[in-house]
Amino acid sequence: MGSLEVYICQFAKLRRAPGSVWTATTKNQAPHKPLLLIALLDLIARGVVTSPFIDVREDLVELNELFTNYWRQVVPIRQTSSIAFPFSRLHNEPFWELVPVEALELDRKTINSINTVNQLRQVAIGGRIDKDLYALLQEEENRAVLRQALLESCFSDDAIKVLNEQAIIHAEAFSYNLDLLSKAHQPLVKEINALNNYRPASRNQGFRRAVVITYDHRCALCGVRIVTAEGHTVVDAAHIVPWSKTQNDDIRNGMALCKLCHWAFDEGMLGVSDSYAVITSSQIGVSPNAPGSLLTLSGRSIITPADQVLWPAQEYLHWHRRKYRLS
Ligand SMILES: [Zn+2]
Repeated sequence: MGSLEVYICQFAKLRRAPGSVWTATTKNQAPHKPLLLIALLDLIARGVVTSPFIDVREDLVELNELFTNYWRQVVPIRQTSSIAFPFSRLHNEPFWELVPVEALELDRKTINSINTVNQLRQVAIGGRIDKDLYALLQEEENRAVLRQALLESCFSDDAIKVLNEQAIIHAEAFSYNLDLLSKAHQPLVKEINALNNYRPASRNQGFRRAVVITYDHRCALCGVRIVTAEGHTVVDAAHIVPWSKTQNDDIRNGMALCKLCHWAFDEGMLGVSDSYAVITSSQIGVSPNAPGSLLTLSGRSIITPADQVLWPAQEYLHWHRRKYRLS
């Protein structure tokens, strides 16, 4: 049985590797474990993690995104890390257990050899936190206290400020994402975002999440879908009418597009017809251009969201066709 006090103590005494690469920002020790734990607290608050078991296939992508956002706030740009690192090493803490794949004995050597999500998935099906801790984490007040214990023991005052700001962005982005999903089922309006004074970063993240999930990571124009083990996706959330023109983050003013199609769409080299087929500009193949596979998209149906209500709105596609004289 663990009480809140016990877990506060355990959170404040995480075993973190010292090293000359770590600065006073992270109190001269590795920041991986506390950053993973504050990302996990965000996911519990969102209702995404709904049991003490954190699945390395189901939950890791979203957890990694939040972990990486926090990481970027406190670690110099050239240093990167995989979430697999703390996810496995937390096994050394009293409240976390790495759950191995069937019939595998986890020893220290195996755990210490895990550096990528692929390696993690080969040896573990997930991580499990104490059920008493999980029960306590259902209360916002407890999450706040445990979060504070982590931050104060692991980070400088300046770092705590930026991590707290990032936590607000995570919460806002999630609520903006829900807002966009619900508004997409109502009649189109010109501007929908200025209402709640969301931070720009929250809007970007919320719009991106809504569009990328709506299209299940597939490029609407060419159909490419690639998600890495770490959860990095090939697609961006693109606006049809640019955000700078109408500040319109309606999902129906968006499409998930791969980097190449995003560029080609924004340049007017590709468009979408009134029957949802790809249009290629007559300029795309002008000598000495070599548009490769883009030309083969001409006339093909675009990949639309499963929910027809969320399909791109013709009035926005029309605006784009007219601007670039596509027909
Ligand atoms: Zn594409």
